[in-house]
Amino acid sequence: MLHSLLNRQLKKCRLDEQACPKPEQWQGFLERINRTYTEADQERYLIERSLMVSSQEMQEVYEQLRESETRYALAAQGANDGLWDWDLVTGGVFCSPRWMEILGMESDKEQMPDKELWLEKVHPDDRATVVGDFKTHLKGETTNFQNEHRIMHTDGEYRWVSSRAMAVRNSDGKAVRIAGSMSDITERKRAEEKLAHDAVHDALTGLPNRKKLVERLARSIKRIKYNQGYGFAVLFIDLDRFKTINDSLGHQAGDELLLIITEKLCDLVRPSDMVARLGGDEFVLVLENITSRERVSQIAERILTKLQTPCEIGGQQIYTSASIGVALASPEYDQPDDLVRDADIAMYRAKVKGKARFEIFDSKIHSGAISLLQTEMDLRRAIEQDEFTLNYQPIVSLHTEKIVGFEALIRWNHPTRGLVPPNDFIPVAEETGLILPIGNWVLREACGQMKQWQDKFSLAQSLIVNVNLSARQLEQKDLVEQIARILKETKLPPSCLKLEITESVIMKNAEETITKVMKLREMGVRLSIDDFGTGYSSLSYLHRFPIDTLKVDRSFVNLIGAEGEHSEIIQTIITLAFHLGMDVVAEGVETAEQLEFLRQVNCSYGQGYFYSRPVTNIVAAKMIEELKEEEFVFSNYLPENVSVIDNYTH
Ligand code: C2E
Ligand code: CA
Ligand code: CA
Repeated sequence: MLHSLLNRQLKKCRLDEQACPKPEQWQGFLERINRTYTEADQERYLIERSLMVSSQEMQEVYEQLRESETRYALAAQGANDGLWDWDLVTGGVFCSPRWMEILGMESDKEQMPDKELWLEKVHPDDRATVVGDFKTHLKGETTNFQNEHRIMHTDGEYRWVSSRAMAVRNSDGKAVRIAGSMSDITERKRAEEKLAHDAVHDALTGLPNRKKLVERLARSIKRIKYNQGYGFAVLFIDLDRFKTINDSLGHQAGDELLLIITEKLCDLVRPSDMVARLGGDEFVLVLENITSRERVSQIAERILTKLQTPCEIGGQQIYTSASIGVALASPEYDQPDDLVRDADIAMYRAKVKGKARFEIFDSKIHSGAISLLQTEMDLRRAIEQDEFTLNYQPIVSLHTEKIVGFEALIRWNHPTRGLVPPNDFIPVAEETGLILPIGNWVLREACGQMKQWQDKFSLAQSLIVNVNLSARQLEQKDLVEQIARILKETKLPPSCLKLEITESVIMKNAEETITKVMKLREMGVRLSIDDFGTGYSSLSYLHRFPIDTLKVDRSFVNLIGAEGEHSEIIQTIITLAFHLGMDVVAEGVETAEQLEFLRQVNCSYGQGYFYSRPVTNIVAAKMIEELKEEEFVFSNYLPENVSVIDNYTH
């Protein structure tokens, strides 16, 4: 090989004297090479240049060449690069054994590729840039040729290579030959491609993820704005019992199920459609060229049917179903996220309406309803993300001015809406049943907190924590067991927990409720009627319940002084309660005047801004600590200075 190279170079030298750089041009030439090429390349150039200089020095050069080329061969071998050299005048191409090896060719057997064969091997998609870069360099517009492209291996597969070269020019600046190196970068390219792929695909199913979905939707949204008649649909699919399956059969079975669902969905759509996975058991389909509700309904039906065919996992038949929400694209949509959100809302409605069905998002839907649905969806996520917190409002003895307990009041730390007051979400939570997990959390948190205070402050032993119980919670068959479990786990004495149930709720299912409440009472848990006075129930009927406390509704306390009639009601309630052996707590005490009146009519306890707004557990702990010093007076916590410690405003 060495000899053939040498001979060819020598021949060329004679034929092409003018191609040789003149001695005075060498320095610049070498500097250029220095900047661009590796040591091995440089050496090669030096040799080649010297070969072209003069035939008299040939013997000398020949000696040098032997020495240099050995070194050069070693260096090239070390760099693992293939070398090539193309004589633009004769058209001859030389490629080093390593070059041929990269492409699976055997240098002895196979024919040295010529220019055509070489170009033919380049991937058709890359040919234009290779040729383009080549031409610009030959024209002298670039200092060197550099291109990454795919080239065919003899095994029929393409390899990624990086090719770098530099032209040799004659005194007119015309390129007469070009030589360079080629390295195999297939591994690097594969790694890059994998990284790029993984960034937009889901690891488990290999489906496009949210990022890729959003990119796709952005393109389709653009298209729909300029292309009348074009339309597409977004289907939000959520499995109905995935959590149960995952919990009962294990994560591996859950993963297997997701793979089966993936396969089913991919089978159902056309190649131009997209199946993406947002995470968990949430999938999104983008269906192209859909403009009518009828068409999308047919497809949604087909998906529902297919997803209802049982899957076999670990020898077991698993029955699944899904709820689907559909959003039909329209030019009004600007953001991909809005489309996904509307499909999500529709899916949520399908769930509420009984699951295993689909719903199409109706753009005419009232915005209030959207925000309600949005709240439902947010609540679901809030439970998982632990976005709730409790505030505590002291309940004070009107005789001693000392704290006797706290009412736990929930706050929702919403990621975008800030602190959301309970009246804005408790009704939605009740309607959807989400109040059950939320209520459970409140009970556990409040009991745990009170127990912690009791362990820390000796004077907290007698404190009671009041927890609000909603109608839905009261309806649960195993409510008593749940509360017993929470008390056991938190180790809070049952007598330190007081449940607040509103008058209307307790009256709704009175007979059923009585049994539960009796059991709770037997356990030692206390009971309070909340918002008393608003439900017009008779006190004598209420007497059938083992009630400890009546909380006089804020609306009565508010009107103290304004109308004599309300004052009388309060007085009557207090007198009757006294006879029935119940305590009375006045809610919403805001002024000294109200307090004064309540004292006059022998109301035992009060709760309201006059004493303190609901505060964080940290501030509440401080109050308890001060209670220990027996110096605690509520004038320290008058409304104006408590507002700084309570960021929740009414
Ligand atoms: P509620 O049980 O009647 O709780 C008393 C409400 O009155 C609280 O509102 C409290 O901050 C507010 N309040 C206390 N003192 C005053 C005052 O002097 N003036 C005025 N204007 N308001 C006062 P909040 O915390 O917004 O709670 C509203 C309602 O949300 C509660 O009414 C209760 O029905 C419900 N709620 C709160 N937390 C929970 C919970 O954990 N579970 C359930 N099921 N419901 C809860
Ligand atoms: Ca309450
Ligand atoms: Ca109340």
